[in-house]
Amino acid sequence: MSWFSGFEKIVRTDVPLREYTWYKLGGPARWFCEPRDEDELAALLTRFRADNIPWRILGGGANVIVRDAGFDGAVIHPRGPVFERVEFDAEIVNAGAGADFPKLIGAALKHDLVGLEVLAGIPGTVGGAVRMNAGGRYGEIGRFVQTVRLLDVNSQFVTRAADEVGFAYRHTNLDNCIVLGVTLKLQRGDGERALQRYREIVTEKQRDQPALAARSAGSIFKNPPAQPAGRLLDEAGLKGVRIGGAEISTRHANFIIAYDDVTADDVLNLISLAKERVRQATGIELEPEVEIW
Ligand SMILES: Cc1cc2nc3c(=O)[nH]c(=O)nc-3n(C[C@H](O)[C@H](O)[C@H](O)COP(=O)(O)OP(=O)(O)OC[C@H]3O[C@@H](n4cnc5c(N)ncnc54)[C@H](O)[C@@H]3O)c2cc1C
Repeated sequence: MSWFSGFEKIVRTDVPLREYTWYKLGGPARWFCEPRDEDELAALLTRFRADNIPWRILGGGANVIVRDAGFDGAVIHPRGPVFERVEFDAEIVNAGAGADFPKLIGAALKHDLVGLEVLAGIPGTVGGAVRMNAGGRYGEIGRFVQTVRLLDVNSQFVTRAADEVGFAYRHTNLDNCIVLGVTLKLQRGDGERALQRYREIVTEKQRDQPALAARSAGSIFKNPPAQPAGRLLDEAGLKGVRIGGAEISTRHANFIIAYDDVTADDVLNLISLAKERVRQATGIELEPEVEIW
């Protein structure tokens, strides 16, 4: 009997993950699980733990590189109305983990709820944004979070206050947890003006970074203290360096762009090369911001 007996309707085998990530590369998930509601998700998690099935949770796939061999385990993809709901109640937004993050910002601005516009140009889901504490030079999502509802390492439904989540630079303490939803506290303000700010930030990113439509996962490395990784990579002469179908962006050295004939190995080898060159030039050990599966 397979481990997913009873879950046949929501588990598919050997599903190519390239279709679910921004990089559009890499191999399949041995099992791909699409739970229809939170109880089904909790039951899956309990089964994984009982049967020692390695698992991962996928949001919008905007920060993930899947290896060419794929992932020899179960990938959970929580999508559909239950996971994507967004509700507004005065200054509070209650959003499911599967909700599209840029769309959530747009909806908040339409409600004249402002604040999140500083997070313009960050693709993916609310769950991924919370897990990564997504952000940039104007702020991070953690500063808006009131509570996070999640399935913890024991498959228990729990609600954690923001200060229990350990929000730090591209970091939370949510390893092995599944974010189900979040409450965000915004401010009542002028949605039109905030939308203007949103557009300015998008324009700024269009000027300094590769096009949003390019195949990438955003920044490859975290910024070490007090210096942008992009500058270190640029000064190490890495802009435009190419391995196979992967190239360090000529516009921003902390982005690796994938072209048609790319493999995950090309991207991973380029990451290793870039890391090594920066280590040799500066002694600084860059740490990946992308998640490698
Ligand atoms: C063009 C481009 C620009 C980008 N710019 C930025 C930027 O300015 N700032 C920034 O911070 N990031 C940026 N990113 C990276 C990415 O957008 C963020 O990390 C985003 O928050 C990832 O969300 P996701 O839903 O795609 O997560 P995924 O890529 O699917 O997953 C990322 C991590 O979160 C985990 N995860 C996903 N959903 C859940 C959940 N429900 N519960 C628990 N864990 C979960 C995954 O297991 C994985 O470890 C950029 C990416 C691209 C492609």
